[in-house]
Parts: sequence; C-alpha cells; structure tokens
Amino acid sequence: MNFVSTRGGGDPVSFSEAFANGLAPDGGLYVPKNLPLLPSDLLVDEALPYPALAWDILRLFDDDHDTDDLIDLVDRSYGEFSDSISAPLQQLSQNLFVLELFHGPTLAFKDFGLQLVGNLFEEQIARTGESINVLGATSGDTGSAAIHGLMGKEGVNVFILYPKGKISNLQERQMTCTGAKNIFPIPIEGTFDDAQAIVKELMSDLEFKEKAKLSAVNSINIVRVLAQAIYYVHAYMQLPQENRDNINFVVPTGNFGNIFAGWMIHQMGLPVDQFTVATNKNDILYRLFNTGTYEPDTVSPSHAPSMDIQVASNFERFLYYHNEKDAGKTAKSMEKLKKDGSVKIPNFNASNFAVTHSTDEDIIANIKRVKEDYGYVVDPHTACGFQDLPEDKTNIVLATAHPAKFPDVIKKAIGETPTADELDALKKKRQKTYAVDATPKAVREFIEKNSA
Ligand SMILES: *Cc1c(COP(=O)(O)O)cnc(C)c1O
Repeated sequence: MNFVSTRGGGDPVSFSEAFANGLAPDGGLYVPKNLPLLPSDLLVDEALPYPALAWDILRLFDDDHDTDDLIDLVDRSYGEFSDSISAPLQQLSQNLFVLELFHGPTLAFKDFGLQLVGNLFEEQIARTGESINVLGATSGDTGSAAIHGLMGKEGVNVFILYPKGKISNLQERQMTCTGAKNIFPIPIEGTFDDAQAIVKELMSDLEFKEKAKLSAVNSINIVRVLAQAIYYVHAYMQLPQENRDNINFVVPTGNFGNIFAGWMIHQMGLPVDQFTVATNKNDILYRLFNTGTYEPDTVSPSHAPSMDIQVASNFERFLYYHNEKDAGKTAKSMEKLKKDGSVKIPNFNASNFAVTHSTDEDIIANIKRVKEDYGYVVDPHTACGFQDLPEDKTNIVLATAHPAKFPDVIKKAIGETPTADELDALKKKRQKTYAVDATPKAVREFIEKNSA
C-alpha cells in the first residue's frame, strides 16, 4: 500500500516512508492511497487475540515487513498490556458498553499507537544505522506514552517539553520516574503553547533538524491512526450477536485522531451506524459539525485536559475523504484556514456523525451518574462520552484513560479516589528532570549536548 498527501504534493510513499516522514513534504497528512476492504472472514470469526487481529489489519497497509517481522512487531507492541484482552469490552447495560483502552503501560489509549511507533523507530535505527532524537511537547498523555514507547531503546534519545506545574502529578511521574538514560523530561516555565512553540521553531529549522536527526511523535503520524483503527474491530468482535446492529461508537475527542481511525475502518467494512464526536468545553468540533465552519478559538483549561486543543489536526484527513479524495480542494480549504483563521467547508455533510459537548459541570455530573447507575468509575475524558447518549442504539463509549490518572476530579465527583498499582509504584520512585531555559536557543543547545 502506498500513502499520499491530503494536499496532493510529492510522490506516493511506502508505509515505512510515511512513518519516518510523519508530515508530508507539502504540509499535508498521509492517507492510504486506497482504503482496502477488511478480509470477509474477519468479522464473523471468534474474537481473535489482540496481536493476531493487529497483524490481520496492519498487513493490509504495510508491504515493507515480511510476515514474521510484522508478527514480531505487534507481539512486542501489544504483548505487555496488563489485561490479556488488551482492549476489553465491558457491558454496563443491555445496550451500553465501554471499550477500556487504558491497559497499556501509561494507562491511556495513546499506548496503542505509541508502543508500535517505538518499536518501528527501533527497527528503523537498526536498519539504517542512524541514531535519532525525538523531540516533542506534551500536555500530559502523549509525552508519557511516547516515553514508555521509547525508553531504554538503543540509538534514540527522547526530549519531552511540558509546562511546569500544569500537568497532573501522576502524568509528570510517568515521564520523570522511568530511570531510563535516554529519556530527558524538560519542565518549561509557561504554558503548553509556549512549549509547543519552542518545538515548532526547532523543527522548522531544517538545518538543525537534519544535523540533530530530529524526529517527532505527534498525533498526525499515520501509523498511530492505523494502530488505533484495530481496537474498533476488536470491540465489534466482543459484542454479543444481538447487539451488532445499530452501533454508535462514542469517542471523547481532541484532535480527531481517535475518531478518524474508527471512521476509516468503517469505510473499510466495519458495520457502524454512527460515530459520536464527544467534545469538552473546547468545542471547535462541536461548532464545526453544527455549522460547517471550522474556526479555532482560544483554549481554556478543562477537567479533561488531553482534549484541550485549539486545532483538530486530524480533521484534515476526514476532509480529504469528504472531498472525495480531491487533494486540490482540501489544500485550498487548509490554505484558507491559514490565511483567514477560519474556513467554511463547502457542502459540509457528516450524516454518519452526532456531536456532543460537555462543560466541566457535565463531566462531574456524568462521573457521578455512571457510578450511581452502573457502579462503574470513568475518567473525566471518558465522562464526556456519556453526554446525551441516544437510547435507540448500541452505544460503545471509548474509555480513553484510567480514572486513577485524574484522582482530583474523581474525588470531587464521587468522594473516592481510584487507584492503580502502576501509578502507586511511581510514587516511591525518584523523579529526574532537566532544567532548561524556555527558549529555543537553550533547548537547542541542550539537545546538541545530549543527543544520541
Ligand atoms: C489524547 C486523548 C484524547 C483525545 O484524543 P484525540 O485522538 O486527540 O481525539 C482523549 N482522551 C485522553 C485520555 C487522551 O489522552
């Protein structure tokens, strides 16, 4: 399978090239040249073990690895999830299910993408003999999932900037207590946007980027999307037969990555009736789906911080398919967005989608109600998924993080503090961070001194 840019520039590239490049050279995002159909026996089979299913799906996109290598890759990526099913489906009521995506090493769904990404980087380094330096900024979950995908690996050092004092204590500990020599967590004075601005500036300095062999792990990498598509099929295979009609996947959404993965696999044949875009009060997508106008606003911090975004980058992939793969039209919309700060999508039609938004009060109320009604505790991101559920569908809410990652909000909602062994263990470990001034120059010098 080849991959092309949503904006039409450059030549089609292979799976490994799309992975290594991240962003397409014209600034677009890679998408598969054609969406293959799911193998017809897949959906009628008994639920497969997660790595076996992952192999069945990834091989439709990846022509670069032979069978044994790809099997090895997915075994290493998903073999160590704490639940043997990796993504277990819990039934809360007759037509309400939760897909638990928090059994990976950092207890959030981003492990599904970043465990695979870590192993692909390792393999790329072994193949090319060239070491790399991964640079990123995080507001919490992405940084820790990237660190746990890459810690201890040969030939790669990882530099993650985060806003000092503005991420949760446990998220910080997941990044700073690894004890791995190749991990450099850097707390920055300022906000997430300040950290992100430094990363962007260094990444756009092509001479430095080349010299320092900088790589990114951001959510626009197509491999993360492909990896996330797998668990939608896994959820379907775990559904009781009588619940397989009228399925509504409810996805707590920030930059549209996770939900796009589900929509993509639906285009490949997974029977889904509806996708619900569940936003928090940073509701650019809520406004888009109601008005057809995409208009980034300023971010305000919420109880669901990993969904506090301004720009939903992965929406560009959906737009490309919405435009019937017309890359010229897609490029035009993205140019207009850049120039005017907003764009009206021509003939916007998203009939497969519903959309909700949750204020912080809704989040608290939903955590409380789900606990009272079903005896089940959801994290603040997942809580957004319980807003305004339709009664006439089989609802599958994606649980994107473990509630123990956000003890303060849960305590406020239900007066108890959930725990997780993995997180308790962190509290006893020593934290290691690196003090660097919040300027591109200081960060650049630090990377030069400590590069792999
Ligand atoms: C990243 C994240 C999200 C948002 O995912 P997108 O792919 O950006 O839509 C939701 N919940 C949690 C816990 C996250 O870490």
